[in-house]
Amino acid sequence: MSLELTDKDGLIDAFQRRINYLRVSVTDRCNLNCIYCLAGSVSHLSHEDILRYEEIYRVVQVAAGMGINKVRLTGGEPLVRPDLSKLVRMLSQIEGVDDLSLTTNGTLLSRYAVELKEAGLKRVNVSLDTLKRARFKRITGVDKLEEVLDGIRAAHSAGLLPLKINMVVLRGINDDEVVDFARMSIDQGWHVRFIELMPFREPETECLGIVSAREIRERVQSLGELEPGAVRAGNGPARYYRLPGADGTVGFISPITEPFCRSCNRLRIVPGGQLQPCLLASNEVNLKETLRNGAGVDELKRLIRQAVAIKPEQYLLREGFASVKRPMCQIGG
Ligand code: SAM
Repeated sequence: MSLELTDKDGLIDAFQRRINYLRVSVTDRCNLNCIYCLAGSVSHLSHEDILRYEEIYRVVQVAAGMGINKVRLTGGEPLVRPDLSKLVRMLSQIEGVDDLSLTTNGTLLSRYAVELKEAGLKRVNVSLDTLKRARFKRITGVDKLEEVLDGIRAAHSAGLLPLKINMVVLRGINDDEVVDFARMSIDQGWHVRFIELMPFREPETECLGIVSAREIRERVQSLGELEPGAVRAGNGPARYYRLPGADGTVGFISPITEPFCRSCNRLRIVPGGQLQPCLLASNEVNLKETLRNGAGVDELKRLIRQAVAIKPEQYLLREGFASVKRPMCQIGG
């Protein structure tokens, strides 16, 4: 990278948080239609409206010079975008990006795990809410549990580690599997993270019930005392613990009952090219126009600093609901 890209001060926001993590949502399309995510009910952006790989590369290259060292690809489902390994290869060559990861539903992972690893991907998080076939179909709309389990095995053997499994816990739908998932940290060495449902004010999600991280933790403790403090790669919002005899860990992510805004280190790029400083806030900075008008490094740096400057102190949940400008399948979680 040329020297002009390097900005030694890093990115610090108005609340003294160091911003070093960029999540890039590469598509708003998904091959699942999870009941809490709204992927099936959104209209998709056209091909021209989505940032091209070269444009994503350009932004990440500039951001890396400003202190972004963690990059995660997400979606929609990132693996439905053709030739994602090409983007991974491009990003993995950027100096300063030392943690390049992917969040996926796992359905296509067995096909791509090896080439993603060879392209420079470090690790994957797989979203999986149930280990029961019929229930998987109910939650996601498709009968693909076996594909996901194959994908997890393939990612393991390809060395995309540590591999984390993310389970969104839904009252009355999959919360009876919390203990089974936690047991996988002992039996399979999985790193399992339980995520509180973020309820959006939409007809599809209004009927879904949150289970608090505290309640999930209490249920997991039926397997034994939780030993705190085992932090895995990424240092994200999860609080990690280990069960007796487990090689894997269990983590709890509690955006609703114990928000982690104070330690938020993230910016997000959504598929249409907006830089979003907060998952739930509606303010944003448009990068696409500037990129397509041939902006130089200084202009891109200015926009990235602007996004950091408008990052809110915390998100607001109105009457317990998250009101969002975009559905989760566009932001990427
Ligand atoms: N398709 C990829 C996947 O399934 O991991 C990436 C995108 S998906 C939107 C990212 C994560 O957001 C998934 O783990 C999903 O479970 C989570 N998610 C979506 N809607 C959510 C909600 N309402 N509350 C909590 N997590 C949610």
